[in-house]
This record gives sequence, structure tokens and C-alpha cells, in this order.
Amino acid sequence: MTGSIQGFEVHEGADKLATYRFNTKSAEHHFCSVCGIYTHHKRRSNPNELGINVACLAGLSPFDFEEVVVYDGSRHPADDPQHRTYTAGVLRFDPAGDV
Ligand SMILES: [Zn+2]
Repeated sequence: MTGSIQGFEVHEGADKLATYRFNTKSAEHHFCSVCGIYTHHKRRSNPNELGINVACLAGLSPFDFEEVVVYDGSRHPADDPQHRTYTAGVLRFDPAGDV
């Protein structure tokens, strides 16, 4: 991967990352070119920040979070004059008690 945001480092598979840009082309979305998993993206709302798939972070799992806020991507803050963020809902993980 070329370019970097301070403190972010790809430990494995950087040579397998593919980049996709759509619509305004300002956000860079990175995917694994082998299995297709989304890994991270440079945020359109703040290009100095990354959004990272927690499943790709060592020691974390998406199931470590009981609730995750889902933002409404069809109403992006960069398209809003007041730069408001809208939420579409909340994803909840309710672990089975017998595991
Ligand atoms: Zn992969």
C-alpha cells in the first residue's frame, strides 16, 4: 500500500490490497484482492482518518461489540451543508448463553 496515515501499518498482505474509488472518488476503499474482504478506507468526511474493519485488527473481533452504530451512507456528511451525520440504526450482537 502506498501513502500512509500516521500510526497505521499493514502487517500482512499489503501486496494483495486493491483500491476502489467510486462516486466522488475522494474516499479510497481497500479490499483484499484474494478473498474480497473490505479492510479499510480513507474517510471521505475526513481524509486524515481511516475507517478500519475490526475483523482485520489483531486481537479484535466484530463480536467484541454489543452494539455498533450504522451510519446512513446515502446522507453523507460531506454532502450536508451543516456536515451532519445521520444514523440508519444500530446493529446488536446478543451472544447465545450456552456458548
Ligand atoms: Zn483475503
